[in-house]
Amino acid sequence: MKNVYTREKRSFAKLVIEQYQTLGRPVGRGRFCEEYRRLRDYSEVLFLATGMKRASIVTPADIYLAVTTIKLTPEHRQQMLYVAELAVSALTGGSATSFVGSFTCGVCGGEYSLTSTGSYHCNGCHAQGRSDQHDFPVSLPASASVRYGRKVFHELVREIRSHGVTEEEAYILVAFESRMPLPIVHAGLCTSETQIAALNKACNRVINQLMLERA
Ligand SMILES: [Zn+2]
Repeated sequence: MKNVYTREKRSFAKLVIEQYQTLGRPVGRGRFCEEYRRLRDYSEVLFLATGMKRASIVTPADIYLAVTTIKLTPEHRQQMLYVAELAVSALTGGSATSFVGSFTCGVCGGEYSLTSTGSYHCNGCHAQGRSDQHDFPVSLPASASVRYGRKVFHELVREIRSHGVTEEEAYILVAFESRMPLPIVHAGLCTSETQIAALNKACNRVINQLMLERA
C-alpha cells in the first residue's frame, strides 16, 4: 500500500512539474531546485486533498474541490492555487502560465509583488526580496521579531541535520512534529510570531527525540 501511495503521489507531482516545464524556464542549481521541490510539496498536499486520486483518473472538478478543502495561510494559498492551475491545465491540454503573486507586506500592509526584473518589491515600505525559480517569493517582509525567529529556525534545522539527517528529512520531521503540511514549513513565508514560534517549538521537539534515540 505504501509503495502504491508513493508511486501515485509522485506521478501526480510529475503531472504538475512537467506542465510547469513546458514554460521552458531556467532551473536553479542544487537538488532542491532540480527536483522542483516547492512545486512537489504543494502537489503532494493537493494529491492528498483529492483523496489520493491517481493522475490517470483525477478530473479538474476533483482538483477544484480539493483546493477548497485545504487549510492554508494566505501566504501559501497563491502558490497552492498556482499548482492547482498547473494540474488542471495539464489535464485539459491547456498551456501553463507563469506565477503572478501579490502578497500583503507583513511590515507596512502594502503590496509585495513581482517586478519586471524578477525580484519582489513592496509599494509601501519598498522592502525588496528575491524570487525563486518558480517566481515564488523566497521570503516575505516581516517584523524584526519574526525575522529573528526565522534565524533561530535555520539554526535549529542545522542542529537537526547535525544528527545525520538530510535537509529534506529535517523538514519532513518538523512538518510531522508540527502537524503542518510540508510546504508550510518554510520560515521565510512565516509572517507572524505565532507561526514561527510553532515551527521552532516543533524543531526543538525533533531535536529532543533525536537525542533520546541516540542515548
Ligand atoms: Zn511594505
